[in-house]
Amino acid sequence: MKKTWMTLLITACMVVAAGCSSGGDSAGGSTGTDTGGQKAAGTETPKIGVAIYKFDDTFMTGVRNAMTAAAEGIATLDIVDSQNAQPTQNEKVDLFVSKKYNAMAVNPVDRTAAGVIIDKAKAANIPVVFLNREPVAEDMNKWDKVYYVGAKAEESGTISGQLIVDYWKAHPEADKNGDGKLQYVMLKGEPGHQDAELRTKYSVQAIQDAGIEVEALAEDTAMWDRVKGQEKMQAFLASHGDKIEAVLANNDDMALGAIEPLRH
Ligand code: CA
Repeated sequence: MKKTWMTLLITACMVVAAGCSSGGDSAGGSTGTDTGGQKAAGTETPKIGVAIYKFDDTFMTGVRNAMTAAAEGIATLDIVDSQNAQPTQNEKVDLFVSKKYNAMAVNPVDRTAAGVIIDKAKAANIPVVFLNREPVAEDMNKWDKVYYVGAKAEESGTISGQLIVDYWKAHPEADKNGDGKLQYVMLKGEPGHQDAELRTKYSVQAIQDAGIEVEALAEDTAMWDRVKGQEKMQAFLASHGDKIEAVLANNDDMALGAIEPLRH
């Protein structure tokens, strides 16, 4: 994952570099009266506004830390919390525009609302890199300075399915009821998030592709969240108990939550 976010930052820096070389007029903001500039003229690093969908998310906290570390000495990041509200995020983007940042990195609250952000970015000629939540193709095609960086959801889904396959084959006793089928429960990420849909689909697909019949006992969203993962797992256990032979989760945080009630 670290490599992915390094790639993001490199992408963002490339975008900044492109913006600086082609948009000479926009550099006019750096005058002696600019109260925002803390360093002497000529030594300022590019400024990138980063809007995260919400700070209270384990994965995005890791992303923030990785971005901050990777930006050290290369760019100045202004990382803000959109508090899981799209209107709040739009206001943050307005703020980035008013501050004439060189680029923006946006982790959308609602990926289908990216069009508005792209319109704002385009009007201000500020390149924008979306991360982790992929805008729809129609919006991505609005402007040529729009980028997306994220993990390949199909791939991580397939890998998680293959891990189950390896375990199933090495441990015949995993088929608790001996019916030759794998009875599973699924903890899904946020509804509508492309990674949630694709990881669900491809993880099950990988198991079926290995010749194992599956039966879904239950499926529910735990919103990528560890505590919700734990709660949903408790509910699954209350309904299905020992019938459950495998737990699939769209991310590690929900899986870590699910482990708790399984320990008792
Ligand atoms: Ca079974």
